[in-house]
Amino acid sequence: MRKNIVAGNWKMNKKFDEADELVDSIMTKLEETKLGDNTLMIICPPFPYLEMCSDYSNDSYFEVGAQNVNDNEKGAYTGEVSAEMLESMDIPYCIVGHSERRAYYGETDATVARKVDQLLQHDIKPIVCCGEVLEEREAGKQFDVVKRQITDGLFHLSAEQFANVIIAYEPVWAIGTGKTATPQQAQEIHAYIRGLIAEKYGKAVADETSILYGGSCKPSNAKELFANPDVDGGLIGGASLQADDFINIALAF
Ligand code: PEP
Repeated sequence: MRKNIVAGNWKMNKKFDEADELVDSIMTKLEETKLGDNTLMIICPPFPYLEMCSDYSNDSYFEVGAQNVNDNEKGAYTGEVSAEMLESMDIPYCIVGHSERRAYYGETDATVARKVDQLLQHDIKPIVCCGEVLEEREAGKQFDVVKRQITDGLFHLSAEQFANVIIAYEPVWAIGTGKTATPQQAQEIHAYIRGLIAEKYGKAVADETSILYGGSCKPSNAKELFANPDVDGGLIGGASLQADDFINIALAF
């Protein structure tokens, strides 16, 4: 059975002490309130806090993920972080192709494909983001956009490799805007994505793939979003910066 996943993307937020306090508070709450057996929590802090979060995660209440990785193996790429480095720190997950990386750092589907390859070579599971911008939604192009992103970013993988991929559908118009996709909009496109995976890799692989929703997900709307058959959890930005909100989202399954 595929996992329900709630992944927190802290982005470029929190000073070290604040980050420590947040993860400590999440831990304390998880000790008091057990998540569902099939629910996996992943915390994706900025790079400098990975080790601190990993130390907390040793108690196995949650897993840790990076927010980005370089698409080269190693070498003269000042300021960058490789998949090999993440693997050497036992980081099991990494977000790839977030819309902010695509918009501000020129990442393309080809970049995403190379990053995914790097991660899989180093036994790290990619959380691959896709989703349309507002103009594309208004022009009814969301299915074409998502199809291109998934095909060009992921469909070079073998079925065996693809089994390690998590997908996050994040309509860009819903990210950080307070505007959430309706449960119907989310279900419709998640089902479409699962259909694409089934066409390429077969139904068994598609049925095992966790597809997360991202975009202004909060405790008040998580339940109705996660109640959809093809919505397997959320990639959470703003609400993952508050321990109570994040835990309440994880309890919404
Ligand atoms: C995100 O950036 O991945 C995200 C979903 O952000 P927010 O929850 O703040 O909309």
